[in-house]
Amino acid sequence: MADYDIIVIGSGPGGYIAAIRAAQLGFKTAIVEREHLAGICSNWGCIPTKALLRSAEILHYGQHAKDYGLTLEGSFKADLEAIVKRSRGIATRMNNGVQFLMKKNKVDVIWGEAKLTKSGTIAVAPTKKPAMQPQTPPPKNAKGEGTYTADHIIVATGARPRALPGLEPDGKLIWTYFESMVPAKMPKSLLVMGSGAIGIEFASFYRTMGVEVTVVEVLPQVVPVEDAEIGAFARKAFEKQGMKILTGAKVTKVEKGADSVTAHIEDEKGGKQTITADRMISAVGVVGNIENLGLETLGVKTDRGCIVIDDLCRTNVKGVYAIGDVAGPPMLAHKAEHEAVICVEAIKGLHPHPMDKLMIPGCTYCHPQIASVGLTEAKAKAAGHEIKVGRFNFVANGKAVALGEDSGMAKTIFDAKTGKLLGAHLVGPEVTELIQGFVVAMNLETTEEELMHTIFPHPTLSEVMKESVLDAYGKVLNA
Ligand SMILES: Cc1cc2nc3c(=O)[nH]c(=O)nc-3n(C[C@H](O)[C@H](O)[C@H](O)COP(=O)(O)OP(=O)(O)OC[C@H]3O[C@@H](n4cnc5c(N)ncnc54)[C@H](O)[C@@H]3O)c2cc1C
Repeated sequence: MADYDIIVIGSGPGGYIAAIRAAQLGFKTAIVEREHLAGICSNWGCIPTKALLRSAEILHYGQHAKDYGLTLEGSFKADLEAIVKRSRGIATRMNNGVQFLMKKNKVDVIWGEAKLTKSGTIAVAPTKKPAMQPQTPPPKNAKGEGTYTADHIIVATGARPRALPGLEPDGKLIWTYFESMVPAKMPKSLLVMGSGAIGIEFASFYRTMGVEVTVVEVLPQVVPVEDAEIGAFARKAFEKQGMKILTGAKVTKVEKGADSVTAHIEDEKGGKQTITADRMISAVGVVGNIENLGLETLGVKTDRGCIVIDDLCRTNVKGVYAIGDVAGPPMLAHKAEHEAVICVEAIKGLHPHPMDKLMIPGCTYCHPQIASVGLTEAKAKAAGHEIKVGRFNFVANGKAVALGEDSGMAKTIFDAKTGKLLGAHLVGPEVTELIQGFVVAMNLETTEEELMHTIFPHPTLSEVMKESVLDAYGKVLNA
């Protein structure tokens, strides 16, 4: 008999949720972690970045206090050390929270680096080199190195920063998200390579903190996965804040000085320039942690740095599953969590709905925020839909005006024949909270009629959502 029904490797949002759901379903469960309970998301990703961005947001409000009829007397300025300390404290709190949840759900924690050695068996060795010091100490009651067996093994080992050849982060002058989150002192100038969610959130944080920020993006728009119109809107807002943005441009070479970097940049027309900045952030994506896991020994299929799975998170090898970042894009915490539940419920034979990637929302917590779900206008057209598009600007939304946050827009895309909501795209205040309304609607296969029939409370930011639907059908009221 195996030691466990289910062993989960990795305790990020994918792994720890899988372990909790497994325990809830009566499986004897263990989770292996080599570095920090709660994974990248809580320790070096979603949560500590939002803590930093919150400090930046409050700084911004303080700087604009006059706009609200308020006078701040005395000094109101950023204390970088305290900001970073707050962010790290929040990461620790999340980390402790997962430790509590493992205990509460009677999930055994095994501390160390796991490797599949043969079918249903893993070997756990002491952690060799954590990605970032300091490593969180293991929980007191954690088991240690040894061989463990299980009927089902779920790989949830996450991802790490991608490094481009010749432009590799060195932790000093060229930062990954790890160093970007714990600066010892503010650089005066910063070059951010890559304008996906991670790059643009750091660009937003540092710009609000007063740093001269240049963003270099190889694709034609910033936040390239978003709808082109939303990307263009966001770009204008970033530029208004003083960010310098180069799109269709790539960093080809970096020369390191004593305390600065000079980046050689080439645009798509062959134009060349150099930019010198105190620090550079490499934010060119992440790659799955698939190495040293024994995947080859068992013959588990991988593709472009990720484990290949089916829509119930099964790999090609019986008894081995993969979820979260290591199982491919989109590399988002809520995707990892949802896969975790699907995976475990399928093992239990509960017939969960398979993952529908079109229903995964994406949120970027820059200023202004960006959020979306479903197809962009370009993708809807490419998929052969005849479409109706609605738009509404926050400038005509009473709540946004009252908040002093009236820059932004909502865009909705419908199938012209059926009225099915195909996609929703938002940029502006609190849109990362608003998007869930459209996510629920899409999951319920909503049509324009139902959305127009829905009563939205007044005054709320959410009214832009309804107005954008009305606009798609020529019935907009407040514009
Ligand atoms: C700066 C930043 C900001 C982000 N912001 C957001 C956001 O706002 N919203 C969002 O949805 N996503 C965000 N993400 C992405 C999010 O963090 C990931 O999608 C999420 O953490 C993936 O969860 P996971 O469980 O797959 O893996 P991870 O969270 O990466 O966890 C994997 C765990 O496995 C452990 N591990 C790896 N190999 C082994 C081994 N051999 N043995 C034992 N343990 C091992 C690792 O130590 C790690 O703790 C952000 C990421 C970054 C870097």
